[in-house]
Amino acid sequence: METRKYIILGNGIAGYSAAKEIRKTDKEGSILIISRESYLTYFRIQLTHLIAKDIDDKVFMSPEDWYEKNSIEVLLKENIKSFHPEERRVVLEDGREFQGEKILLATGASSFIPPIQGVDKKNIFAIRNLDDVKAFDEALKTAEKVTVIGGGLLGLEAAYSIHESGKPVQVVESFSHLLGRQLDTEEGHRLEDRLKEMGMTIYCSHNTQEFLGEDKVEGIRLDNGEEIKTDLVLLSTGIRPNIGLFKESALEVNRGLVVDESLRTSVDQVYAAGDVAEIHGVCLGLWTAGMETGKIAGHNMANPQDLKTYETPKNFTELSIGDIEIFSVGQNKDEGQILTEEEEDRRVRIFLEGDKIVGGILVGNTKAKGKLKKLVFNGANLTEVKEIFPNLS
Ligand SMILES: Cc1cc2nc3c(=O)[nH]c(=O)nc-3n(C[C@H](O)[C@H](O)[C@H](O)COP(=O)(O)OP(=O)(O)OC[C@H]3O[C@@H](n4cnc5c(N)ncnc54)[C@H](O)[C@@H]3O)c2cc1C
Repeated sequence: METRKYIILGNGIAGYSAAKEIRKTDKEGSILIISRESYLTYFRIQLTHLIAKDIDDKVFMSPEDWYEKNSIEVLLKENIKSFHPEERRVVLEDGREFQGEKILLATGASSFIPPIQGVDKKNIFAIRNLDDVKAFDEALKTAEKVTVIGGGLLGLEAAYSIHESGKPVQVVESFSHLLGRQLDTEEGHRLEDRLKEMGMTIYCSHNTQEFLGEDKVEGIRLDNGEEIKTDLVLLSTGIRPNIGLFKESALEVNRGLVVDESLRTSVDQVYAAGDVAEIHGVCLGLWTAGMETGKIAGHNMANPQDLKTYETPKNFTELSIGDIEIFSVGQNKDEGQILTEEEEDRRVRIFLEGDKIVGGILVGNTKAKGKLKKLVFNGANLTEVKEIFPNLS
């Protein structure tokens, strides 16, 4: 069995950031990253924008020689078959075994495939990695009508890229309006209208009941019985942490791998970061969180005498497709008082609970996003909010 000082399972942003951070303080210790993907770490967040586009080297975080210069060894196209936390032992599909002094589990997440009848038919895709985009693009070439299931952020980004490629696209969303987590009903309907003006077809308040067709998808039956035609489907229905390897082990597993604020799992010298980790009962599923938790885990693995802790971030979101710019922060629900400021180049919506701001949305010019974020994160009162947005009513 081969040994290394640090072994990192997964080469997404969390694994990459950890390796980079380890090298900052431990210049000598051997680092091995193992991943089943065929590519060095890339910007996963760009995948929806890359649909129907050329993919070049700009997608990668660092060139190949960066790994050599930093003595970071990467094993690609290697599936990890099992992990034995108490021995810190990793077994690959081909039988090779590695033991590490310190281990980082950064196996990320996979697309959630909803158990809908017919979901295994041909031309139904989900996008999680570069190969998924390539396979989807190939199918897109001959598709006549594409459907995106899920009107969240990633679903809408993908729908826009498909629309840009010139193919008709429809979006099916089970919630009553698009971006259900980020927008209130009124703003969600406004967004729907703008996408319809672009030429997209939107079905909100509709569940997908069945994918129709013989071998290949030919249509969708919605929960009201309506059948819509489609020959290519993209599922954008959430993610699930990749915890399969750890379920039967000594590690504490809930929805994700349970870690403390220092990113330590329940087993000594075994850390977890990124989409697979669960902190304070939450699996974050965000790029910046993957980067930050990876960095902190890497630092802590190399510097156990100087442990850093991770603070769960407050959430905000941005949608930027065509000339649609939306920034959303905090709790933007229909209940409570909602104030609006309409200006030529932007609309501001402020959500209050009593006198206190709990959420806000900017549509159009989003330059004030930093100020709005600050107001929401600080729980500012209405007088303070009106100092920034004086024309609210
Ligand atoms: C299309 C898309 C758009 C996104 N857009 C945004 C956005 O706009 N903003 C945002 O904050 N977040 C976004 N995200 C989420 C963000 O990309 C993730 O939170 C982040 O990439 C997670 O990084 P990670 O390192 O934890 O895991 P991952 O990037 O999932 O990496 C885990 C790696 O481990 C490998 N692995 C897993 N199991 C095994 C095994 N058994 N053997 C070998 N290798 C294994 C996987 O193949 C993978 O390479 C987006 C995600 C997608 C898919």
